[in-house]
Amino acid sequence: MINLILFGPPGSGKGTQAAMLVERYGLLHISTGDLFRYELSNDTPLGIEARGYMQKGELVPDSVTIGMLRNKVKANPDVPGYIFDGFPRNIIQSEALDALLEETEQAVSALLMLEVSDEEIVKRIVGRGATSGRADDLDESIIRNRIEVYKKETTPVFDYYDRLGKAKKIQGVGAIEAIFGRLCAEIDHING
Ligand code: ADP
Repeated sequence: MINLILFGPPGSGKGTQAAMLVERYGLLHISTGDLFRYELSNDTPLGIEARGYMQKGELVPDSVTIGMLRNKVKANPDVPGYIFDGFPRNIIQSEALDALLEETEQAVSALLMLEVSDEEIVKRIVGRGATSGRADDLDESIIRNRIEVYKKETTPVFDYYDRLGKAKKIQGVGAIEAIFGRLCAEIDHING
């Protein structure tokens, strides 16, 4: 199995690249942001709980997020691997993911981080907001808060997997196909 964490700030292109990686490697894409938006659009109790946090650009509490992620993984055991997108977003979630994968004697294969500057991110997200229908993409102060949360709470996840020799930085600016090529080169290297 190959279990990838697609990592990087909001708006760094994780969703776009994940869709292309799914095509090439047949992995299951699990985006916690997409899962929350699905719950939200169906007004489920989980969606209602997540809404306030998402609207402010804060993290949804770990117990909720980890439970949701766990259900998704457990419901899809027979896949060649997973692409985790938007998860883990802090150290608690990283430890939970490692423990979850260990239950089936699996592990994170690699964390691939798309590197994009703050200014580029804000520009991209504001552009996406015009068509994405995401309230958290329309307000620059919410976008800035998501970037702050990323820097404070999420970047330690990179160091956590870096210490295990599993973290790689990928230049996230340029043509979509070129970035895809860089990701594939890393994955093929891991796959041996
Ligand atoms: P982006 O990466 O563009 O900020 P996502 O679609 O990954 O957006 O997530 C949108 C929102 O969903 C986040 O701002 C947060 O409120 C919530 N969320 C997504 N994933 C997690 C997570 N792993 N832990 C806590 N909250 C999360």
